[in-house]
Amino acid sequence: MRNTIIITLFAAIFLTVSAIPWPVGVTPGGQDSSWTIMTSYGNYHGGSGGWEGCTNPAEYANFHFGVDIEDYPNFAPSDTVRCVRDGYVRQIDSVLIAGTDYQYFLVICDSMSSTDGWCYQHMDTPNFSETDVVYLSDSLAVMDPLVEPQAHLHFMRSDSVYSSTHPGLLNPLDSLIPPASSDSGFTWEFHTDEDTLFFLEEMIHWNWPQNSGNPSDVWQYQVQPDNIHDAVDLFYAYWLTGDGNKPLPVNADPLNPHKIEWTLFRLLQSDTVDVFTRYVVEFTGAIGAVSDTTKYRQFYFRWPLRQYLFTGNPGLISCLTNCGDATGLD
Ligand SMILES: [Zn+2]
Repeated sequence: MRNTIIITLFAAIFLTVSAIPWPVGVTPGGQDSSWTIMTSYGNYHGGSGGWEGCTNPAEYANFHFGVDIEDYPNFAPSDTVRCVRDGYVRQIDSVLIAGTDYQYFLVICDSMSSTDGWCYQHMDTPNFSETDVVYLSDSLAVMDPLVEPQAHLHFMRSDSVYSSTHPGLLNPLDSLIPPASSDSGFTWEFHTDEDTLFFLEEMIHWNWPQNSGNPSDVWQYQVQPDNIHDAVDLFYAYWLTGDGNKPLPVNADPLNPHKIEWTLFRLLQSDTVDVFTRYVVEFTGAIGAVSDTTKYRQFYFRWPLRQYLFTGNPGLISCLTNCGDATGLD
């Protein structure tokens, strides 16, 4: 008798709120001039705090609460960010970049009393002021060229007055038209040669080895797949990219899938038995509450990027067995 596990990753799009066009366009109405995803909703976000700070409700969310749409080098002049819906400029604020220049963000709501709206971040000086009326396809600003690692739009659903501790009310990909699907010419690519499955002795996520840079700190807890015994945690390293109209360069940020399905099969000499199927990673809908923090930490392995443990290309490492069973996803 032998057991085997099959994993499927999904990047399917579920349209759940009113549809809007993409927000980057050379011309009004041509708003998918750039629609490659640089960082997806739900990505481990690195940066300040690292894994320990993942969704730190106090100050910094390392769970990425929006989509990053990268700049497009053929644009001349800079990439224009356009309004996705008629409304009002509810908020404009700025953040100093590297002590040299300000980047701006805008929140645009259906009315001045709306509770939430579409938020455009990493902008150069806006073309509008607070309380201005704006219309679909209006040029709001250009992407700020000083933003690192490259100019891009961070696009998200936020409170009408942006709060860094309550960001990202939904996945913008659920609303954007054309949908990020193969029917529209969008390519979700799972780099299957970068797939890696491994087992570690089960332990509470706080006890996972620190990211020391020494992979043996992790592998000392490995349980070989053909010799599984006692309780184990199942980890999956994968590399997903989402290309709208600009193939991402090698070493581009890996993306987080909408969900992961995994099934345990028991292989018998006479038959194959489906023991159970689990779904994890449901990053659609309203998330981001403080109470979600534990869930995110359980999902992201403490060594979040696969190249820390394996040679080769970037990718994410997720723990599948701590995430529960998001039933009903199929
Ligand atoms: Zn972003």
